[in-house]
Amino acid sequence: MESFDLIIIGGCASGLVAAINASRLYPGIKIAILERMPRIGKKILATGNGRCNLSNLHAAEHPYTNADFAQYALNKYSVKETLRFFESLGLLTYSDSEGRIYPLSNTAASVLDALRFAVNTENINIYCDYEVKTVKKAKNGFTVNSEFFSKKLILAAGGKASPSQGANGSGYLLAKQLGHSLTDLCPSLTALNADQSVTKPLKGVRVHSAELSIYDLGGNQIKRKGELLFTDYGISGIAAMELASTVERIKAKGVKMDTFTTIDFLPDMSHESLCKYIKNLCISTVLRDFDSLLTGLLPKAVGIAICKAVSLYNSSKKIAELTDFEIENLAAVSKAFPLRITSSRGFDTAQVTCGGIKADEINKKTMESVICPDLFIAGEIADVDGNCGGFNLQWAWSSGLLAGELGGKL
Ligand SMILES: Cc1cc2nc3c(=O)[nH]c(=O)nc-3n(C[C@H](O)[C@H](O)[C@H](O)COP(=O)(O)OP(=O)(O)OC[C@H]3O[C@@H](n4cnc5c(N)ncnc54)[C@H](O)[C@@H]3O)c2cc1C
Repeated sequence: MESFDLIIIGGCASGLVAAINASRLYPGIKIAILERMPRIGKKILATGNGRCNLSNLHAAEHPYTNADFAQYALNKYSVKETLRFFESLGLLTYSDSEGRIYPLSNTAASVLDALRFAVNTENINIYCDYEVKTVKKAKNGFTVNSEFFSKKLILAAGGKASPSQGANGSGYLLAKQLGHSLTDLCPSLTALNADQSVTKPLKGVRVHSAELSIYDLGGNQIKRKGELLFTDYGISGIAAMELASTVERIKAKGVKMDTFTTIDFLPDMSHESLCKYIKNLCISTVLRDFDSLLTGLLPKAVGIAICKAVSLYNSSKKIAELTDFEIENLAAVSKAFPLRITSSRGFDTAQVTCGGIKADEINKKTMESVICPDLFIAGEIADVDGNCGGFNLQWAWSSGLLAGELGGKL
């Protein structure tokens, strides 16, 4: 049985930085990365639509699930520290107006290259196409698939979102084998299936900034603002994707009632200003009809959908004849367009898993398990997740670097 000082299960975001940090801090130790995919870091290539939104300047204040737990790692290996780490690997970055951080090259391959070259050192052994099926606590360490022994173990096997990218949920079974328990799991950051009679005619239409809201099971209104994209099956874009876990939780409770989201197509305009705008338009431009009434504000197809929703489209009315009540109604529906949501698109297309190894089973200052000594946990497999914008990778880097620092210490 081959022996290592540290075995890392999972060779993607959190696992790779854990290996690099451990190897740099403790140059003499023997490390192995075990990865079920043919190559390490596959998911990184898919992130940020191939650009890898690797972090966010506002990560420290982000409302992660279990933010209190995550805070220690996020402070110790802060955004600044993480960027310094990547710079030491030769990767430079830039941030956009919303604080999202990307590689200067704008390609995710640069991030993976930086990590790949850094793990290519003498003391890190990489086994690809190698799926871990069993882990057992042994005297002074662990046995892995009854083939390897390691003094310390880092579980960095991810969640079960987008299994085609590698993480398929098998890490949860390994955590259970070592005595851990899990919260409920649900897909997060994925598109939503919705009433197709509404969305199909709008297929391909993008609204630059819309605000979607939905009521969760506790009756709280959850709002998300960002780009909205209509598809034949429903809606996508950041605003829709960030509601997926709320939709999933409602459905998981077996709630039979239809779930509705309301879409504010003009979140930066008040109801009053919108009424005034429509009123002025009706007086000043007699040539406009309901097809073009809202084209100064929104894509034409969206304007038509709003007019249809208030039964004005195809009516014999001229816009100059709109009553104050009808104008009020148009404005109200533009700011609260109802759309029935049937479900999220599920784990297959989700970007992250909501839920995981319970936070109170992990020491937040070391990422060491409080159930199983010498086992460390990193990344998405823990019950921490954030919204779109680089927050999930930042958690993977921060927790991975911390797990590497403590897990590599013999
Ligand atoms: C399409 C897509 C786009 C995304 N874009 C962004 C983005 O732009 N910004 C952002 O912040 N986040 C993004 N995310 C989320 C982010 O990629 C993840 O949160 C992050 O990769 C989690 O890192 P991790 O190391 O914990 O897990 P993963 O990156 O999932 O890595 C886990 C690794 O463990 C391996 N593994 C699993 N089980 C086993 C086993 N039993 N044996 C051996 N190996 C195993 C897997 O193959 C995988 O390589 C995106 C996710 C997806 C799917």
